[in-house]
Amino acid sequence: MNYTSRIFIYVGMLIALLTGMMLLSFKTATDIVVSGSREHLRHAAMRKQESVRHQGDELLNYTDIIVNDLRLQEHIYIIVQLGASSEALASYYDRQFSSLPTDAHVILSRSGEVLYGAKYSRLINALRQRKKATSREKFFFMSPDGPVMVAVQPLVYQGETLATSAVARLLGDSWLQQQESNSGEYLIFFESDGRVLWSSNPDYRGFQINRASKMVVDTERSFYLHEVDLPEAGTEIPRLWFAASETRLIHMLNRYRYWAYAFSFLGGLTVLLLGWLMVRNFRRPLAQLMETTEAMIHGRLPVLDRNESRTELDLLLNRFADVLDALRREKAKVKRAHKKLQETAITDSLTGMYNRRYLQEVTPGLFAQVERDGRYLTAILLDLDYFKAVNDEHGHLGGDAVLVHFARLLKHNSRANDQLFRIGGEEFLILNVSENPDGNVALAEKVRELVSESPATYQGVRIPMTVSAGISCYSGRLGEGSLSRLMRSADKALYEAKASGRNRVVVHSSCKEASTMARKKNQKQSLSLVTNTKKPF
Ligand code: GH3
Ligand code: MG
Ligand code: MG
Repeated sequence: MNYTSRIFIYVGMLIALLTGMMLLSFKTATDIVVSGSREHLRHAAMRKQESVRHQGDELLNYTDIIVNDLRLQEHIYIIVQLGASSEALASYYDRQFSSLPTDAHVILSRSGEVLYGAKYSRLINALRQRKKATSREKFFFMSPDGPVMVAVQPLVYQGETLATSAVARLLGDSWLQQQESNSGEYLIFFESDGRVLWSSNPDYRGFQINRASKMVVDTERSFYLHEVDLPEAGTEIPRLWFAASETRLIHMLNRYRYWAYAFSFLGGLTVLLLGWLMVRNFRRPLAQLMETTEAMIHGRLPVLDRNESRTELDLLLNRFADVLDALRREKAKVKRAHKKLQETAITDSLTGMYNRRYLQEVTPGLFAQVERDGRYLTAILLDLDYFKAVNDEHGHLGGDAVLVHFARLLKHNSRANDQLFRIGGEEFLILNVSENPDGNVALAEKVRELVSESPATYQGVRIPMTVSAGISCYSGRLGEGSLSRLMRSADKALYEAKASGRNRVVVHSSCKEASTMARKKNQKQSLSLVTNTKKPF
């Protein structure tokens, strides 16, 4: 697996981790918010419960006011003990207590006779059904319009209980609406057998609630529920519930969730982008290195651009560029040394002319050229006369000076396509490929003359010298050519020159044949030129 894939895998893992962390934090936040809202609901329900209890106590306080009213006590005494009519009581009661914020007032005599509030028959029934109406207390009973909260208290006059005073409040729709303004966020209602009977929001009347999950769910919103305990209420009284809408909470959580998704998406995108940039930064120098090493394997030393960036990889790349530069310099040095070595291997150190080794190398090419182009290869073999005597007379160094002088003469007077060799101590060779070998005889003559006319100088002493030359030729038509045959013929001619008195040029018969052939060829060509020009006439 390459680095790119690895980095993408790591980035992918990082994104997964980030998203996981986001979702986990979202879930934790959700749990916190939900449990917070449940807690909030519990507290709110407890406050409601406190308020209901407080309202009950308020009713009891009203009964205190009623039963402790002396005039009322006297009225009741007159009615109960003396059998007077209750009309005066009614007008007094209305005047005195009608301003108390209650829904019903009843006064029952000791014997259960209604002294006041005959119109509140349900309350009267409820009071009659209660056996022990002898103490100051609260209770609930059911009416078709809702549960009724009642406060009762015996009315005592001169140590004798004459009657029972009761005040009541209907906990129906209007009471529920007073408890919770119709905000849509909260609900308070009575429920029996899973059905909403009376509610602060009349829309929810008859709604089915889920007691197990303590929820009310409708199409628009759902509510969490908490029971409001009514301690004095018996089992026949429906249960009172306080509910808080979950909608706001859900909106809040959803908003949070969208943020969480947006953050994890953006985070992932950022990490991906950074990862991609990192990979790109990684890949560029690595690809460059790979390319360079590949080129090096194939023997090239490419020029690497240096980088301004200061990352480790770029530094490595710059160092690599330095290495390449150093290698290039070394390669150039080696090339120069090699060239020099090659030159040294094929040249004679004293005269700077080609040596025998090069002669062996170069001749196959020359023979091939001659055979291919129908030309002539001429060998002029030159040998200094009585050179031993020069050595004897002027010493070996004197001899060397003569050799150098002779070589210089040869170089200066040879033609562009002449190849000059020193093949022995004082033996030299000129090889030449030409259309006609005749010119070589003239060259040999010229050299011979020059040598005899230009003595060498060593330590101020003139050393005259002469040279003998033997010339041999090769034409492709004279059978297979070889260096040894060519040299043998040249040697023969040279021997003849030596034998016939030295300081002369002898031409081998092979050159005469070649010369004749070349001449014939030239004639043929000029003839064909003539016929060609005549043809049109
Ligand atoms: P000939 O006219 O028959 O050619 O007589 P020669 O004396 O030139 O011929 P010979 O072959 O007898 O002598 C050649 C001499 O050249 C022998 C050798 O000492 C000398 N010689 C060979 N190579 C060198 C060299 O590099 N430097 C010097 N100074 N002398 C050399
Ligand atoms: Mg010799
Ligand atoms: Mg000689």
